Amino acid sequence: MKRLGIAAALLAMLFIVPDPGFAQVKGVYYGTSGKFGPFKMGALVPTLPKEKDRDIVIPVNIWIIDHPKGLVLFDTGNNLASYWAEAFCNMLKPSQTRADVIDMQLKKLGYAPDKVKVVITSHSHLDHIGNIKLFPKAVHVIQKKELYQAWWPEKFQRGPAFVMGDFDGAARDFNYLELAGDYDLFGDGSITVLSTPGHTLGHQSLRVKLASGKTLVLSQDAIWFKENMEGYPAGLNYSVKDYTDSITKLKAIRDLEDADLFYGHDQDQWAERGGRWIR
Ligand SMILES: [Zn+2]
Repeated sequence: MKRLGIAAALLAMLFIVPDPGFAQVKGVYYGTSGKFGPFKMGALVPTLPKEKDRDIVIPVNIWIIDHPKGLVLFDTGNNLASYWAEAFCNMLKPSQTRADVIDMQLKKLGYAPDKVKVVITSHSHLDHIGNIKLFPKAVHVIQKKELYQAWWPEKFQRGPAFVMGDFDGAARDFNYLELAGDYDLFGDGSITVLSTPGHTLGHQSLRVKLASGKTLVLSQDAIWFKENMEGYPAGLNYSVKDYTDSITKLKAIRDLEDADLFYGHDQDQWAERGGRWIR
């Protein structure tokens, strides 16, 4: 009897499908919440040498992540319908159609906006947190420090880049998961929030591991453009030291994990890979 039991167990092992041990991301959609521009890159990157300056029209990256445990957004883009200061519009020259807004993009891809389970917000600037009010039922993942800065930015950052209307009223009572550092979203290593302060006090980026084995690092405004990787820091930083440390961290992850690193507003990356699924 005992020998028969062992034989049966061995036979059963032949038919066991290996369990990867974690749920896998089905795909990541690279979208944009309209465009900014044209303007000179030097207007946003004051360290850029004149000979490298050029006219750009840039995307406003928004990311839709299809995970078996639920739909995840990384940033909700801008909300041009209201609040934007005229001076800021004159500088950034934003363009956005109704179809560019995150809820319409979700519908186009076959998702009901109220099915979004998690909204991760990189930071509270107007082109990243602008549409969180469309997702009152979601868990909102943000660094706790970023919430402090959103409500009371330093004077030099106050200007028009934080728009109180994006996160006041009902949004104050949303279900926030307030972080202090890195965080494994579903506990399976597939979507990891990476603390990348510097652009703002509590900026965060994202690492996504795809079922294909590929890893994506979505920097958002920790790195705006490829030029920021070449020694030309962007303007508007809360802390240039933290900004530089965050770029070093993302570069290391890119190199150690052989990851694709996406910048927050890079027109060349958008032209190459934007408006489609990455799997
Ligand atoms: Zn920003």
